[in-house]
Amino acid sequence: MSISRTVNISCPSCGTQQDVQLYDAINVEAEPELKDALMLNQLNRVECSDCDLSFRVDLPLLYNDPANNVLIHWVPETEEASREEILEEFDRSMEQMNEMMPADAEMPKVRLVTSRVELVELIFLIEAELNHRVVEYIKYSIYTRNMESTNPQKFRLLLNVQDSTDEEFCFVKQDVESQQLGEILRYGRTSYDSMCELHEENPEEFLDMFPGPCISARNVLIEDEELDR
Ligand SMILES: [Zn+2]
Repeated sequence: MSISRTVNISCPSCGTQQDVQLYDAINVEAEPELKDALMLNQLNRVECSDCDLSFRVDLPLLYNDPANNVLIHWVPETEEASREEILEEFDRSMEQMNEMMPADAEMPKVRLVTSRVELVELIFLIEAELNHRVVEYIKYSIYTRNMESTNPQKFRLLLNVQDSTDEEFCFVKQDVESQQLGEILRYGRTSYDSMCELHEENPEEFLDMFPGPCISARNVLIEDEELDR
């Protein structure tokens, strides 16, 4: 089931108030059109009735994909809520959820992202049946080999599944602050395949590195850097 509510929103440009319907949770099996809206950057988008400004309202969103047994929480990073606070709060609610679940219930995979681009990337990864931890491991190695040009504090690496081919993956560099997409980095598919074999032999190693719910090489690198300080 998808959950929405009516919220009174002021236009950030002209201040006009209007009641709009915003989604807190979407079930993409029951309502695939909501997934399409999300992918097209139209979900929770408001058109001002007065000045015609179009703007997106970012609220925490639960993306429920029962067919793939996955729940993705998008908790937008804001000035009030840092990444660290979001993770702590999330761990607490996960513990509560685990306590409430019957012991024999099949737990959905739970993921956490803090931006819409990461949510969209993850949806593509899941649908292409790619191994998320292996993909993040590849990003980790791209970051560490290019620390000067691809500083994780400044840049996000996103796998562009649509532009990737059978031969190579296409990663795109995004400037976190300006959101601008930049350089494309290519990575051989055969290296990914052999990394998947490593994952099969020794999944614990990848799990140790990316325990979740936020599986992100960028996060790991930023946390390491903060610990070094
Ligand atoms: Zn307006």
